[in-house]
Amino acid sequence: MTQPDAEALIQEVAAYLKPEDVAAVESALAFSAAAHQGQTRQSGEPYVSHPIAVARILTPLHMDAQAIVAALLHDVVEDTDIHIEDVAEKFGKPVAEMVEGLSKLDKLQFETQEDAQAENFRKMLMAMARDVRVILIKLADRLHNMRTLGAVSPEKSQRIARETMEIYAPIANRLGLNTLFQELQDLCFMHLNPNRYSVLSKALKVARGNRREVVGKILGAIKRRLEENHIKAEVKGREKHIYGIYQKMQSKHLAFSQVLDIYGFRVLVDDVPSCYLALGALHGLYKPFPGKFKDYIAIPKANGYQSLHTALFGPFGTPIEVQIRTVEMNKIAEAGVASHWLYKTTSKTPINELHKKTHQWLQSLLESLSQSGDSVEFLEHLKIDLFPDEVYVFSPKGKIFALPRGATAVDFAYSVHTDIGNRCVAVKVNFELVPLRTELKNGDRVEIVTAPHAHPNPAWLSYVVTSRARGEIRHALKTMHLGESAKLGERLLGQALASLARKPQDIPEACWDRLLKETGAKSRQEIFADIGLGRRLNMVIARQLARVGEANGQETSGTGGGVTILGTEGMAIQFAKCCRPIPGDPIIGVIKPGQGLIVHTHDCPSLRKGRSGTEEWLDVAWDKNINKLFEVSIKLIVANQRGVLAKVAASIAEAESNIENVHFSSEGEYTALYFTLQVNNRLHLANVMRNLRRISEVVRITRVKSIPA
Ligand code: MN
Repeated sequence: MTQPDAEALIQEVAAYLKPEDVAAVESALAFSAAAHQGQTRQSGEPYVSHPIAVARILTPLHMDAQAIVAALLHDVVEDTDIHIEDVAEKFGKPVAEMVEGLSKLDKLQFETQEDAQAENFRKMLMAMARDVRVILIKLADRLHNMRTLGAVSPEKSQRIARETMEIYAPIANRLGLNTLFQELQDLCFMHLNPNRYSVLSKALKVARGNRREVVGKILGAIKRRLEENHIKAEVKGREKHIYGIYQKMQSKHLAFSQVLDIYGFRVLVDDVPSCYLALGALHGLYKPFPGKFKDYIAIPKANGYQSLHTALFGPFGTPIEVQIRTVEMNKIAEAGVASHWLYKTTSKTPINELHKKTHQWLQSLLESLSQSGDSVEFLEHLKIDLFPDEVYVFSPKGKIFALPRGATAVDFAYSVHTDIGNRCVAVKVNFELVPLRTELKNGDRVEIVTAPHAHPNPAWLSYVVTSRARGEIRHALKTMHLGESAKLGERLLGQALASLARKPQDIPEACWDRLLKETGAKSRQEIFADIGLGRRLNMVIARQLARVGEANGQETSGTGGGVTILGTEGMAIQFAKCCRPIPGDPIIGVIKPGQGLIVHTHDCPSLRKGRSGTEEWLDVAWDKNINKLFEVSIKLIVANQRGVLAKVAASIAEAESNIENVHFSSEGEYTALYFTLQVNNRLHLANVMRNLRRISEVVRITRVKSIPA
């Protein structure tokens, strides 16, 4: 097996490399074969077949000789007696550095598998930030391992497939290596969900056969229409990859028979104006679906992807997805950052721009890496950074910022500049003042309000999603000395007391003593520092101190005891009846005179109506360990059929939730059921709702967050 593969590799590189480079590849081939002599893979093949296969995944991308050599040698240091110095001496420093970056650390250093995985990943990331070729080789390595995963034990194959799905496939996507990305996803899906994979791939084969004729007709019609409009274009049918279809079924709750657009079409033209002309021509041929048009030419994706996307009502009601882009854009769409090697181009083309941008991205990853102490945590946040979904927001000057979905105003502030992040105190989204934790949406205009002496608030760590913001906040908090935070805390407490018309010096000694006892803090200084570091809320402490004279203080009404909101020990907390927040919901606190702290969900409509002036908004977060039940309201639309209520009630009970209250109103064939349930948190609610969705009579389920207060 190996010899023909080795020969094929040499032939492939000879097609695009200079003779002396081919010679280097040949010598690396011999070196690798000798080093791995006697080793076999789990499949029984000689081990060297693996590095050869990895190198052959890279040749279609026309990777340079150093990268091919490093691919051939990527396992020699880790798995054989060869030292990295030997590699450097024989193949040069750049190759040795790549091989070093691809070699795992000594296993004995780590206590757990997670630590080892995270630390190895960190090391590889540092190497790839220096040299993008490292990650291209690593991805090729992973692809070959995934292709040959059948030979290893089920536990190991599951672990590798999950890791690939969570980390390597998103990296391939982030780098724009689309073909590789899709193959990785399909292979992962096959191993993680073998049954669904086989059912779906069979169904897909049948459906493709059935629809071949229709597809041919549409293809012909598109070609003709473009010709009539004198647009020079290449039109191709495009099969979507299985995992892409599966994701669509999942996200839209569709059965396979309902996924109609298993075929897409791609139109390649010569220049940008022709893209829009072609779009116009096709919208004249078939009606477009409203709201489905996306212009990734004007606003490219972070991985450099550019294209127009539209969906059309085709003949016989078939929805058709069409991508329109230039030939140049198509190169990037398929090979991403690897197009740098594949299409050697001159100076300022989009391909070289992309290469530069990728370097910048890796550099910023590296920076946040050096600031986050814990590798496992870094890995978690990297996963979010890699998440392909992005929102695009605008600065007041109209500059575009791409942020991962779920990013907040604080993330935005840090993506503009570290100082903006560290000094931000408020944010206006679309000219409206909103809490800093507000999740940004596509197209938002975001204006950060800063104050010269402001400091990052540790509570931000509970909701920022970008690793950059997280790293910077950590860094700023670490460098803030305890004395400094105590001073800040004292000032904050003074402000809070002033808002209650109290002066710090008027607080009786007895109140302080009681506060220390209640909070378990050792000294006032500790309380101040806690406030300064955001571990306690200034308003809460101020209210506790000012409570003197009030009858016995206030009981923690509605909480049933136990802390649920961080830093609010001893404070009266109510959960707003209008939106009924449950743990996991983004929340905001409102302090109402005489009522204490009222917790709303972030998107509660009653908050939007504006503030009354006597209330104060507080940035609050859920406590980590909450062990109680929360009320939540849901609305179900069900078809009027016998026994449906019983089915619904049984399903709720099965999900281990209690029904507190139910009422309903009939609307013709359907009935709306309003339930008040008890759940632990959002995850629990999600389980309840998932269970309910399985009932065939249930048409719709929504969580209700807008009961008038
Ligand atoms: Mn390998």
